[in-house]
Amino acid sequence: MHYNKLGKAGIKLSEISFGSWITFAKQLGFNQVREFMHAAHDHGVNFFDNAEGYAHGESEALMGKVLKEFRREDLVISTKIFWGGNGPNDTGLSRKHLLEGTKNSLKRLELNYVDLLFCHRPDLDTPIEETVLAMDYLVRNGYVLYWGTSEWSAQQIQKAFEVAEKLNCIKPTMEQPKYNMFFRDHLEKDYLPLFDKYGLGTTTWSPLASGILSGKYHHGIPQESRLAKEAWLIPNNFRELVEKVKKISKIAEELDCTTPQLAIAWCLKNPHVSSVITGATKMEQLLENLGAIDIKHKLTPDVMKAIDKALK
Ligand code: NDP
Repeated sequence: MHYNKLGKAGIKLSEISFGSWITFAKQLGFNQVREFMHAAHDHGVNFFDNAEGYAHGESEALMGKVLKEFRREDLVISTKIFWGGNGPNDTGLSRKHLLEGTKNSLKRLELNYVDLLFCHRPDLDTPIEETVLAMDYLVRNGYVLYWGTSEWSAQQIQKAFEVAEKLNCIKPTMEQPKYNMFFRDHLEKDYLPLFDKYGLGTTTWSPLASGILSGKYHHGIPQESRLAKEAWLIPNNFRELVEKVKKISKIAEELDCTTPQLAIAWCLKNPHVSSVITGATKMEQLLENLGAIDIKHKLTPDVMKAIDKALK
């Protein structure tokens, strides 16, 4: 496993990481979570991603039970604050929710600090100054080592940097955007000035577009798949996307790898990606996805061009 710096920060993340959205506490119970996290760790994964909103906090609680079995220094743990519950102060990025939400997450994770804390979405109802000051407080008081954003626009991130500079606060370190063969603009266009100017790191999500890029939807929606269970995730252009994946699968065959491995290796090729967060419901998936590392070198400029052509 290779370890990337998180942008210009000193902390190092495994280039493939493991997240818990939809899976932990919904599809996977304690024993499976434990097995999966140990298998990932055995393969060199040091970064595990979570959020206060995943399975209403149960995802953090499950992960927390397993984290105790590892050496804390060997782990990079993240959580995200925004959707903490139904009360008027349980959501958003106010000073109150950031402080209370983070403390509650730490309790569930059974940790004294998280390495990375993300503002899970922008909060248009809270002044950015309040959010930046609250994040500065959380870092300076040891609850969090690095803070960042998730799915913020380039302008919103730029503003956070400017406000942090003006208020002499700790600046954001990373953004967590969606990035896969179908969803590229944030990373490949919008954020480019931020990478240059601030050395922003990224931990990217949904490398398989919720599984569509695994090739498993070539002949319809299998019963046990994510899209069968979470129909709201089926995109309007689903059929069109599947036709493109069929072409990607042909390229994978020529490279002697699987379609998910090619899709994940493709994300790893982007130099602005610090870590690709994967998800899995089966041990075979997890191990297959980790194998993406071994085929990264096969993605030559010609192969990358062929992929672009297939995606057109
Ligand atoms: P993917 O796009 O990789 O989708 C993962 C799902 O695809 C699995 O749960 C599984 O679902 C299926 N799958 C995975 N590997 C394979 C395989 N080899 N063959 C066939 N099917 C496979 O990633 P996620 O959408 O799960 O995102 C990854 C992580 O990113 C999340 O866990 C979370 O930590 C983070 N995230 C962050 C967000 C944010 O807003 N910041 C939003 C979403 C995710 P199944 O078997 O059920 O079909």
